[in-house]
Amino acid sequence: LPKRFRDSEKSVWVEYIQLALDYKPACNLGQGFPDYPPPKYVTEALSQVANGDNCLLHQYTRGFGHPRLVNAVAKLYSKLIDRQINPNTEVLITAGAYEALYSTIVGHVDEGDEVIIIEPFFDCYEPMVKGAGGKCRFIPLRLKANVEGLSSSADWVLDPKELESMFNEKTKLFILNTPNNPLGKVFTLNELIMIADLCKKWNVLCVCDEVYEWIVYRPNKHIRMASLPGMWERTITIGSAGKTFSVTGWKVGWAYGPANLMVNLQMIHQNCVYTGTTPIQEAVAISFEKEISRLGADECFFYSLPRELEAKRDMMAKALTDVGMKPVIPEGGYFMLTDWSPIASQIDLSNESDIYRDYKFTKWMTKNIGLQGIPPSAFYSQPHKHLAEDYVRYCFIKKDENIQKASDILRKWK
Ligand code: PMP
Ligand code: GLN
Repeated sequence: LPKRFRDSEKSVWVEYIQLALDYKPACNLGQGFPDYPPPKYVTEALSQVANGDNCLLHQYTRGFGHPRLVNAVAKLYSKLIDRQINPNTEVLITAGAYEALYSTIVGHVDEGDEVIIIEPFFDCYEPMVKGAGGKCRFIPLRLKANVEGLSSSADWVLDPKELESMFNEKTKLFILNTPNNPLGKVFTLNELIMIADLCKKWNVLCVCDEVYEWIVYRPNKHIRMASLPGMWERTITIGSAGKTFSVTGWKVGWAYGPANLMVNLQMIHQNCVYTGTTPIQEAVAISFEKEISRLGADECFFYSLPRELEAKRDMMAKALTDVGMKPVIPEGGYFMLTDWSPIASQIDLSNESDIYRDYKFTKWMTKNIGLQGIPPSAFYSQPHKHLAEDYVRYCFIKKDENIQKASDILRKWK
């Protein structure tokens, strides 16, 4: 294995998906995906494409994105950021948001470049930066002092001085994930302005992972960095059909940004996967066209999804508080971090050999009571992993009966 990948071998997904296969927990709230069907018109679109008259939809399509899909993506985001996006030069369709992140990072980071990453962060950023020869600089969100009662993801904030100190002439990228996975924080306008000002001052490119852009709970609002003054020129925004239409297995994503930056992503994409799947891109395009036509209306999936998830979030939070855990109520996304230290004295973790307590706790839970979560220290750099050891991440985009099952499992065990 090349040196630049040597300390990236461990993946929480590889480990925990295998854990679930080995122990078959009754309730798996680990990896994030819905356990109920996506909207009917989305799956119907795919079956129409599969069985329709246009046999060319089963053959290769344009490498940088299927024409119908780049047109739909450009049309939607042109409206949302109030700027005309060119579908052919300013949009790239990728194999999930993962490949969009990869093409952005590898297409910009050179040996010795620095990349600023906010913790907790979606775990793939670090190995991608290191694989490109770059150096990660991590800055943790910190829980404000004196938070009473249940904490919200809004209570986790950046220290402005610390943030400023992360930038220097070697800084190439800033990676922002809003709404954040795993915390659920939705960055406010003031927080975005603070980051934007520093990116402008140091001539840094801002990578915005906005895969949960539609999953935002009232009264919070998702603000797109690319819509801020002077930021379009230096922002690549990334999205995912998996999150947008509840079809994580389709693995279609996209990146949009100014043409002079997009050529760098195109270069990586054309020399890696070269082109994505045609029928799935066509079906995603049809789904986008439907939602664009009812944007702003109540029945638009982009609004009905967060309403549906808000009730699940509250159900999950109650299940956790009922047994004495302390959840962090997310403002967005479909994950919840919860502090399990109040119940730690009830568990004997001495048979678990992992280094970090959250790994021991989550493995113990899967093996002994059949409830699976994800250890959030996986979303921190080595020196900061201790900040997450008292927490576990649960996914709540699940049928109500399965959230109820989690609640029953916890209550019975207590
Ligand atoms: N970014 C974040 C924050 C995510 O949670 C995910 C989910 N895996 C991705 C990127 C990757 O998305 P995709 O499944 O479309 O590759
Ligand atoms: N984004 C999902 C999660 O955080 C899926 C992760 C993955 O497939 N690697 O659970």
